Amino acid sequence: MMFTALAVDMGNWVSAYQIVVRRGPVELTYLYALSAAAVSVVLKSMHPTRAKTPHLSPRVLLFLGAPGSGKGTQSSWLSSRLGMPILSTGEILRSEAKRNTPAGFRLRQVLASGALVDDDLVCAVVGSRLRRDATGGNETSRGVILDGFPRTVQQAAFLDSVLADLGFPRPCVIHLEVSSQVLLTRLTARRQCAVCGAIYNLVSRPSLRGSRCERDNGALIQRDDDSEGVILRRLADYQKSSQPLVEYYAGSDYHRIDGNREPEQILERLLEIASPQRLLVEAYGD
Ligand SMILES: [Zn+2]
Repeated sequence: MMFTALAVDMGNWVSAYQIVVRRGPVELTYLYALSAAAVSVVLKSMHPTRAKTPHLSPRVLLFLGAPGSGKGTQSSWLSSRLGMPILSTGEILRSEAKRNTPAGFRLRQVLASGALVDDDLVCAVVGSRLRRDATGGNETSRGVILDGFPRTVQQAAFLDSVLADLGFPRPCVIHLEVSSQVLLTRLTARRQCAVCGAIYNLVSRPSLRGSRCERDNGALIQRDDDSEGVILRRLADYQKSSQPLVEYYAGSDYHRIDGNREPEQILERLLEIASPQRLLVEAYGD
């Protein structure tokens, strides 16, 4: 039946093409019967359709930004808007330690011995999780937002190799840049309940009960590590340790965002960058 249609309509490559689309590839023995010219017409008509098929690879998103840059807020907003789960290194380590994988086994040994989880092991565990999620293909089919990984250039290079292995693109990197003055204002405004440990912020999240905790009326205090001197040192440390990562990612899918603006404005910009529509346009273009 398919052959008849092909033979009759050979002059009309559109119908030949439609048969191919509807029924799948034409058998080679059949093609033998056609003239070389007819075959080339069919093949040409098939080629553009293949190129146009948008292929959305799951995407790994990650944030770079100093403490107080708003990474936590933005990644959780983006996660719910795009339906991409956040995978934190802590969560990955905890869940892998319960599994019977080689990485999970090594992790249990290290944790039981009280030793520190080193760079290699973190990489092995994160890699194991990404591979499993990628092949399981449910929750993470739209991609994931990684939190706390990579922290070093070595980890970043490892992540690239795992993603390349899985056939995924390099991570989309969002760098929230906030001036040190704004960071200092935000971080020194943090207050913690002395009783339950709840965190408030004099600027962005003040307690409804003033200098007392909303839950238990505990006194709100400034932690030692939120004092100006300590914060300046933390920011300098962060700057120093993150600079190599920024350099590593600059030039690829890397986006420097002005993080001094209102959180809602920043989210709008992030949605433009990370939306599946943008990826769709990219898949069609070129
Ligand atoms: Zn409290």
